[in-house]
Amino acid sequence: MKTRLLPLLLMLPLLVTAQRDWSQVEVTSEPLADNLYVLFGAGGNMGLALGDQYAYLIDDQFAPLSDKILAAIRQITDKPLKYVVNTHWHGDHAGGNAPMAAQGAVLIAHDNVRKRMSSVQWEGTDRETQPAPFAALSRITFNEKMTVHLDASNSMHLMHVNPSHTDGDTYVYFPEANVIHMGDNFISGYPFIDIASGGDIDGLVSNLNMALFIVDDQTRIIRGHGQVATRADLLAFRDMVDTIRMRVHQAKSSGKSLEEVQQMGLTAEWDQQYDNGFINAQRLLEAVYASVD
Ligand SMILES: [Zn+2]
Repeated sequence: MKTRLLPLLLMLPLLVTAQRDWSQVEVTSEPLADNLYVLFGAGGNMGLALGDQYAYLIDDQFAPLSDKILAAIRQITDKPLKYVVNTHWHGDHAGGNAPMAAQGAVLIAHDNVRKRMSSVQWEGTDRETQPAPFAALSRITFNEKMTVHLDASNSMHLMHVNPSHTDGDTYVYFPEANVIHMGDNFISGYPFIDIASGGDIDGLVSNLNMALFIVDDQTRIIRGHGQVATRADLLAFRDMVDTIRMRVHQAKSSGKSLEEVQQMGLTAEWDQQYDNGFINAQRLLEAVYASVD
C-alpha cells in the first residue's frame, strides 16, 4: 500500500481536490533550454517559455496552487505572464485558469477544450465536473494549429492531435529549443483514455507515432505526469501502447468479451513499470476494448 500511495497522489486528477492539503505541495522547476523550463507541483507538469517580452505557461494545475506557481515563475523571470496554454481540459491541467487570467494572462486552448469546460463533463465517466465560469474559459481558441512567436528566433507551435486522451489534446512544440510538451498523451504510467471526453486508443497510437517523427535523441520531452523524458522513453511507451492495442483488437475481433480479455494477461510484461495506481491494467484494457477499431 505504501509504495502505491505516492504515485497515486502525484498523478491523480480524479482525487477529490477539496480534501487535499495544498500547503504541502512544493512547486519546483528544472531548466530545459535557455528560454524553457518545466515546473512540477501537484497535477499535470507545466512548461514555462520566455520570450523577449513575456512569459508563457503551458498548463496551470489546480487553482489553490496558483500563488505557488506564480512565485516559482518569479524565481525564474520578472517578465509578465502573458499567455497560458492548456494541453487539454482536465482539472489537474486547467484548474488554475481563472486565477491566472485574473493576474492578466490570456488563456489559449483548442476549441474542444473550451467547449468541454463550458458544459458538464464526466472525466473517465465516474467524476462529474460542473461547467467552469467564464473567467476560466479560453479567450483565444484554435482549430488545428497555432504558432506563437516568442522572440526573433524562437517559436511555440500548438498542434491539435487526434482524439486520444481527450478530443482537445494539444502538443506544444518548441522546434528551436528542441522541447515538446505532450500533455497526457505521454505519462509515466499506463495511458488514461478518457472515453467520456472523446478519448480513443487508435488516436493515441497515431499521435505517439507522429511525436516520434518530430523528436530526436536530443529532444527534452515534457510528459503530462512524470519526469522529463527522452525519445527512447517515448519509443518504449509507444511500443507498449501499440502492442496492447493490437492484442486487444485481435481478441475482440475473435469475439472475446471484455471480461475474457481482462483475464488473458495481455499487459503482464508491462504491469510492473506502468501499473502505478492511477490507471491499472484492467482499467486500461476496458478503455482500449471500448475504443479500438
Ligand atoms: Zn488529463
